[in-house]
Amino acid sequence: MAVFFPVMNRQISISALVDVLQAQSSFVITSHIRPDGDAIGSALGLMHLLEAMGKRVSVVFIDPIPPSLDFLVGRERISRTFPAADAAIFLECDSIERSCIDRGEYEASPPRITINIDHHRSGREFADFNWIDPEAAAVGCMIYELAIVAGVEISPAMADCLYTAILTDTGSFNYPGTTAATFAMAEHLVRSGTDPHRIAAEVYFSNSASKVRLLGVALSHIQIEGAVSWSHVTLEEMERVGASVEDCEGVANHLIGIEGVEAAVFLRETQEPDQIRLSLRSRRTLDVSVIAERFGGGGHKTASGCSMEGTLAEVTRRIVDDLSRACVPGIHAAEAVEAPTLPSILLA
Ligand code: 5GP
Repeated sequence: MAVFFPVMNRQISISALVDVLQAQSSFVITSHIRPDGDAIGSALGLMHLLEAMGKRVSVVFIDPIPPSLDFLVGRERISRTFPAADAAIFLECDSIERSCIDRGEYEASPPRITINIDHHRSGREFADFNWIDPEAAAVGCMIYELAIVAGVEISPAMADCLYTAILTDTGSFNYPGTTAATFAMAEHLVRSGTDPHRIAAEVYFSNSASKVRLLGVALSHIQIEGAVSWSHVTLEEMERVGASVEDCEGVANHLIGIEGVEAAVFLRETQEPDQIRLSLRSRRTLDVSVIAERFGGGGHKTASGCSMEGTLAEVTRRIVDDLSRACVPGIHAAEAVEAPTLPSILLA
């Protein structure tokens, strides 16, 4: 039976999305570049869900998968090649450009429809069907809801994937957005076969020595001025300790964990000359996604990222000035970025 979808490029309800999924036979799922626990856990969780609905599913990521997620069932099926499929599902992406696929392959074999599932404040309705819920603590929570609405029983493999997604994206159930509903989902996932102790052992207690050494380097560079803390690593330092880009994941969270600090930024050099990658964090009321979006990035109110052009010293000065201004009571993040930068401080 042909299904007619009158609403395109707009927000769609969960039940309407289930109808859209039912009407397709084959799917390709991906998420954002430099994928993390929510990106991989949600993609594989959705793969298990769609397969339980009788669909053919591929999962594509061209960037490396963090080794701490190798234990997830289905990890071995992640491919780097974009296959032909009826539908492409983008998780946690604000555009096809931010997704972890080869754009040339996508354009050579475009899917019939595109679906966007996201929980970022900076989410955009770029696909044919968009389900964006900034209240969701993780995209893993949205995939869980999808399974419930679709009436699919949660298998132990799906439970592991979704629990990992939720655990990592809520900062182990600590970030704002973690509610009673988040714990209720976690409880259901544990009842469905996941083992919180085993997942924590895989995700948090299997770090490579290079990741821990890189954290040591970054922590040795911490600077604090007023309510802002920051740190960096250079390419040379990453090479010296044998660290990869994935090993930088999570460093920023240590900077915002300092008493009295309201905003933090972790900066790292990239392979591209004069391109610096930033991880921004805040607590309480400051919305760092406003600042990240001004520089072409995005994310959440308390955790965002972007890239900026300049040397490490120049970018550090610019972002620390912006964050310092944004931390002054009464000044909002948007005004802080629009205002001229303060005369400079803060670089030791
Ligand atoms: P992190 O600082 O850990 O890389 O990212 C923090 C949050 O911001 C994550 O939810 C991540 O998906 C999002 N984020 C990081 N960089 C970007 C970016 O360049 N664009 C967008 N839209 N989101 C980003």
